[in-house]
This record gives sequence, C-alpha cells and structure tokens, in this order.
Amino acid sequence: MPIDFAAKKALFHLPEGLIYLDGNSLGPMVRTAPARVDQAMQAEWGDLLIRGWNKAGWMAQPRALGDRIARLIGAEPGTVVLGDTLSIKVYQALASALEMNPRRKVVLSDTGNFPSDLYMAEGLTRTLGGQYRLKTVAPEEAMSAIDETVAVVMLTEVDYRTGRRHHMADITKCAHEMGALVVWDLAHSAGALPVDLAGVKADFAVGCTYKYLNSGPGGPAFIYVAPRHADVARPALSGWLGHAAPFAFDQSYRPGQGIERMRVGTPPVLQLAALDAALDVWDDVDLREVHAQSLRLQDQFIKGVESRAPMLQLATPRSHQMRGSQVSFRHPEGYAIMQALIAEGVIGDFRAPDILRFGFTPLFIDEDDVARAIGILARIMDYGTWDKPEFKLRAAVT
Ligand SMILES: *Cc1c(COP(=O)(O)O)cnc(C)c1O
Repeated sequence: MPIDFAAKKALFHLPEGLIYLDGNSLGPMVRTAPARVDQAMQAEWGDLLIRGWNKAGWMAQPRALGDRIARLIGAEPGTVVLGDTLSIKVYQALASALEMNPRRKVVLSDTGNFPSDLYMAEGLTRTLGGQYRLKTVAPEEAMSAIDETVAVVMLTEVDYRTGRRHHMADITKCAHEMGALVVWDLAHSAGALPVDLAGVKADFAVGCTYKYLNSGPGGPAFIYVAPRHADVARPALSGWLGHAAPFAFDQSYRPGQGIERMRVGTPPVLQLAALDAALDVWDDVDLREVHAQSLRLQDQFIKGVESRAPMLQLATPRSHQMRGSQVSFRHPEGYAIMQALIAEGVIGDFRAPDILRFGFTPLFIDEDDVARAIGILARIMDYGTWDKPEFKLRAAVT
C-alpha cells in the first residue's frame, strides 16, 4: 500500500509554524513517545523495579528492536542489536573486522567520513600498535584505493556534509575481490533510503537511531554482523552482556551466540522505550517510497534555491543515484545565513567551514514546507538579513 504521507506527518509532534529540515541530525518526537516512556517509567521502573528486566522484557529489547531495524536496512533477522553510541559501535565493528583479517594492517576510509569514525579508527590503530594505520582518500577515490594492503574498508554510505552517496554494492564487491572486509556506517541511511545489507553481502554495519529513526537525543546505536561472521567475530569490547552466560558470572569471557556478543553493558531502557514508539511509525513503511519522495522534495528545493538564491552553491551531487536524504549548499557566510533561517522558523544546520545542510524527511516534510522554506531563504538572501552580529555568534552546537 502506498504511504499516506499526510497521515504519517500527523504522527509527529512538530511545533506550530516550524519547518524542520534537520531530521537528519535529530529526528522529531513521535506523538506516542511520551506515553510509552511514561509507561516504562511508572508502570515498569516505578512498580516493577528490578523485576522489569524479566517481566517487562527489558533484557530482550536490544534484540527485539534490532529485528525491527533489520527490516529497514535489508538485514537478516537476528543480526542487529541495539546499544551504546555510534562511535562505540564503529570501534567495535572495526576491531572485530581487523582481527578477522590479521595479515593486513590498513584501514581505508575517506576524508568525507564523519570525524568520530576517523577518530575511533585512529585510536584503535594506535592501541593495536605495530603497522596498523588509517588511510584516508577523497570520497571519489575510495573504490580505486582498495588494494591488497587494505584489511578493512570503513565508510559512511552518505557523506554527512555534502550528502554524496557511495555505491555500497560496488564498493563491497570490490573490497571482497581484494580480500578486504567492509564496515558500513548507516548513520545517514537507516530510515532515509533503502539499504540491502544482505543483498550487497556487507560484513559489518553500524548506525544511529536518533537521526532518521526518531529515538530522541542520546538514543542508542545499532550494529549488524553478517550471519557468516556472527559466530567468528570476536568482540574487542567484551562486556558482560555479550557473554554467553552473563548471569553465570564466570571469571573469564566467553562470547555469546551470534549478534548477542556485540552487546556490551546494561541497555538504555528508557531510551529504548522511545525508540519502540518511534518504530511503530516505520514498521509498515517501504524505504524505496520514502527515498523517492525525499528526492522529489530535494529536487523542488534545489530548483527553487538555484533560481531564487543563486549565490548559494549546490554541494550535493545532482545525480539521484548519488544522493541520500539531504541537500547541502555552500556559502562563505553559511553560519549566519543558517542562524537567520532558524530565527524565521526554518531549521537546518551548519557544518564547518561553509555548508548549509537541509534534510528532506518525507514522513513529516511536504511540498508546502519546502516551498515556504525556499521563500524564506530567498528573502533572507535578497535583503541580506543574515548580516547581523547576533547571527555570527557561534553556539557550542552548530
Ligand atoms: C551522527 C554520526 C555519528 C555520531 O556518533 P555518536 O557516537 O552517536 O555521537 C558518528 N558517525 C557518523 C557517520 C554520524 O553521522
């Protein structure tokens, strides 16, 4: 059944009059989340106390919700588990992948990758010592840079700044032909576009839920391990909940079965309750349709901005095949322009040095929102209303 976008939009809490083009950074709240979290607090934590782990299914949540996310990213059931933050999951996936390809020492990534992914790789290679090193190349060169020295290719499918999308199937295939493993970061893919982890034969994948999947600030990340690796991959972060028998309290570590071993510690129960509510909105959604609609909204926005605010320079590829769910424009005064937009109720964000970023999330953004956003942006540029000292003061979070 085709998605009723207007009905989906009504499921989100969006402040009156606001045009929220930042669901790629922090997804809005679904209306049912407060009641679901309240239930987890009052009826579960409040009344059940410690019994909640068994009686309210808290311990099983990371796997149960993992299966609902699995459907959205083309993963086999039982291959995804929730927990920790994305940075931690990047480290975990990369450490396991490196250990599975011990004769090679190079982690290949691209210069467009999110800094935290690169920092985690840097930290890990330093800890491993020896010849381990992180090599980064321009995003366009990622595939051709895969050679027989590369142990693991670690890439984010959609570039957080430009919105440029890697060809996941081709890169994975090429890596495997070269004897490398691949870790895909789906931070800007999960809930934004169709992903087919099983189909492309990805080895590991990670992603977050507070962006396109609306779990709320600090919502847990997820990790995927291909079934063929699930009982081989050894967790570097060997916490008790990834142990084969956590409540046996053994002195030494034995990895749990399959994806269970990628758990680390106590799951964030309240945050998972918010995610549970958010996923109700996603369970019947076809991501191909979501992405097709996002591309229509993006095209509308690009066309409008290019004709009415031509001083802004498109930073996102024009080809639909190379786009995720965001559109970015460059301008030297990008920060001030974004602050002026936010002051007028159009929320996007800014990424240094000069990128204005706009997310097009069709479950709660429609053509009307896009038309209004274009009009407001055009007016700000025509009248130069961004050129005020208060719009140039940098806040801690941009
Ligand atoms: C958002 C994002 C992160 C953030 O990591 P956290 O640990 O959740 O703060 C990491 N990597 C990528 C690619 C991202 O887009």
